Amino acid sequence: MKVLVPVKRVLDYNVKARVKSDQSGVDLANVKMSMNPFDEISVEQAVKMKESGAATEAVVVSIGPAKAQETIRTGLAMGMDRGIHVTTDEDLEPLAVAKILKAICDEEAPELVILGKQAIDNDYGATGGMLAALMGWPIGSAANSIEQSGSDLTVVKEVDGGLQTVKLQTPAIVTTDLRLNEPRYASLPNIMKAKKKPIDAKTPSDYGVDTTPRLKTLKVTEPEARKAGIKVEDAAQLVDKLKNEAGVI
Ligand code: AMP
Repeated sequence: MKVLVPVKRVLDYNVKARVKSDQSGVDLANVKMSMNPFDEISVEQAVKMKESGAATEAVVVSIGPAKAQETIRTGLAMGMDRGIHVTTDEDLEPLAVAKILKAICDEEAPELVILGKQAIDNDYGATGGMLAALMGWPIGSAANSIEQSGSDLTVVKEVDGGLQTVKLQTPAIVTTDLRLNEPRYASLPNIMKAKKKPIDAKTPSDYGVDTTPRLKTLKVTEPEARKAGIKVEDAAQLVDKLKNEAGVI
């Protein structure tokens, strides 16, 4: 089966986000950017499926600025076969991303699309569901494990307080959760090899997708700074403060 993996270039998860002084968004100038962590897990899954013979081809796609090509190369160095780069300088909303991915699915006809359950920059967690709706395909979301047998997929999903096992038929969408696997580091020889793997260059208009935003960001603010702690004299004072000041007991 052919597997398609959409990956987003986001602020590296180790970097503390700085809000721009005009509160219009997060300052991305001169900060480390990386592949969305959930997307690394999707790439690992696709590469594992190739190694086990379950997947015949694994294609990585990213929609983003020129530098998103680096993110695609990371996927190629991890073991994906080829890339598709849809260049745009806009940070597209999930519906626009899903419409572009639908056009790519119509062209590429993958049997399985593996997305992250959410991108850690905007936390929409919406693209996978929207793509499933646009394609009319089943979705196994927040996957903790994926087993394939012919055109049957058994997906164990992470749900509140436990796990839910579902069965779906390909073509299908799966979104990945953190415990699915541990993404590999690309080895130096594979990084070199990835430089020769092909990447198709596209734009949203090649797919006839209108990317006009439907949301307007009014403002972005930093989380409230934590207040300094205090020392209590004894357990009685602790209980009193938890009850009468914090109101938690
Ligand atoms: P979101 O719905 O924005 O939280 O993103 C969920 C998933 O959709 C991500 O983990 C990616 O797999 C995919 N995705 C979102 N935006 C993009 C993008 N610009 N390019 C490629 N894939 C994307």
